[in-house]
Amino acid sequence: MTSVVVVGGGFTGFECTRHLLRELRKHNASADISVISPVDYMLYTPLLPDVAGGVVDARFVAIPLANTLRGVQHIRGRVDSVDFDRRTLVFIDPEERVRSLSWDRLVLTPGSVTRLFDVPGLAEYARGLKSTAEAIYLRDHVLEQLELANVDDDAGRAVARRTIVVVGASYSGTELVLQLRALADSATKHMNYAPDDVRFVLLDLAEQVMPEVGEKLGAAAQRVLTMRRIDVRLGVTLKEVHSEHVVLSDDSLIRTRTVAWVTGVTGAPLIEELGLPTEKGRLRVHSDLQVPGHLHVFAAGDAAAVPDVTRPGKITPPTAQHATRQGKVLGHNVAASMGYGKKKIYKHRNMGLVVDLGPRHAVANPLNIQLSGFPAKVVTRAYHLYAIPRFVNRWAVGLAYLTDLFFDRSVVSIGLSSEEDARFHASEGIPMPGPD
Ligand SMILES: Cc1cc2nc3c(=O)[nH]c(=O)nc-3n(C[C@H](O)[C@H](O)[C@H](O)COP(=O)(O)OP(=O)(O)OC[C@H]3O[C@@H](n4cnc5c(N)ncnc54)[C@H](O)[C@@H]3O)c2cc1C
Repeated sequence: MTSVVVVGGGFTGFECTRHLLRELRKHNASADISVISPVDYMLYTPLLPDVAGGVVDARFVAIPLANTLRGVQHIRGRVDSVDFDRRTLVFIDPEERVRSLSWDRLVLTPGSVTRLFDVPGLAEYARGLKSTAEAIYLRDHVLEQLELANVDDDAGRAVARRTIVVVGASYSGTELVLQLRALADSATKHMNYAPDDVRFVLLDLAEQVMPEVGEKLGAAAQRVLTMRRIDVRLGVTLKEVHSEHVVLSDDSLIRTRTVAWVTGVTGAPLIEELGLPTEKGRLRVHSDLQVPGHLHVFAAGDAAAVPDVTRPGKITPPTAQHATRQGKVLGHNVAASMGYGKKKIYKHRNMGLVVDLGPRHAVANPLNIQLSGFPAKVVTRAYHLYAIPRFVNRWAVGLAYLTDLFFDRSVVSIGLSSEEDARFHASEGIPMPGPD
């Protein structure tokens, strides 16, 4: 039987496997399909800011592969290298054992990791927002710092504990800062200080917040940020990060013990190990998602530089919208490579974006219709409930939304994710920088 190995169980790998199963069923055929991934779930990342802000539980945004991809073998592990001539790959399992696997068809969908820059102290003191460990850590850490500030007898250190810096004012950084503000507002109701004693700073090198939604909606988001008392500083970024302060590129200093780095992504480290041509850190593929020169190897999603045939010369941006649709085409084309159906090329026009800006606010541009305020909020939440790919998870998120509508957010840090768990290398698999 033909063996198909899918590397990565995120948006693309998950959708590819679902569609491959569907195609094979349609042709009354079967294959030996394995999905190999370090985690046993597909993570619905657009709701990570809600996890960090305490609106939804991390389990609600984790779609279990075992419950959803029946008949598929799931292997826990991180792929380290691929031998294209021998058609094998090597992976490290959760107990650090080195193992290998052979394949007839290989689908590379390991996604992306946070793009780090050479900012002193960044990898040590900042944390990202790409994994459940990072989102849970941010929620717990912010609450813990507020609790500690309450009883700190050093006034300067207490200020640092109550100051949160988020770097990156694109949609996920903006969502994060506003969700954390809502969490902090709930917390301060039960603590000894006024909401304004907790300070949030949002930084970006760009001249506008959320340039990806255009000027009008960017301005609407800026108004929400101002109303929610976020200190937005544009045209600046981090120059240095220390345990109790950061230095900005304009040489100003902010005392803080919480730095969230949400500035963008680059292809997963595996991509560089493959020794194949890349573009902007993503693996080059043809528009049918096949890897050039390797007939039986496919790739898509954040890890691949997929040509955008609707914008000649450009590649598709790293979004869930493209990843999901590319996954479908991948599933179809892998089946076609086995003789079931005909290959397709990937073509999709951007459908717009929904951005949740915390309590009562959102902006959205579905099909280029510009929405803000209450209509955008309804569209945003309805969209997520539609897009989460499993009924039980949709149900749980729906109930969490309802709870959030009527009750204060729980001021509880359970401590499931430690400072170490949330480091970029531990939570996202970014290699640790070697000694100079
Ligand atoms: C906070 C946040 C908010 C976002 N919000 C939105 C949004 O609102 N709308 C939108 O369109 N997009 C959004 N995105 C972008 C979206 O999440 C990505 O574009 C999408 O996840 C890409 O899908 P993927 O399958 O390529 O990668 P992923 O979904 O990241 O999946 C990759 C999988 O591969 C696994 N993997 C990595 N390396 C290996 C390896 N070596 N071996 C085996 N497995 C490996 C990973 O563990 C993961 O399971 C958001 C992203 C973030 C971080």
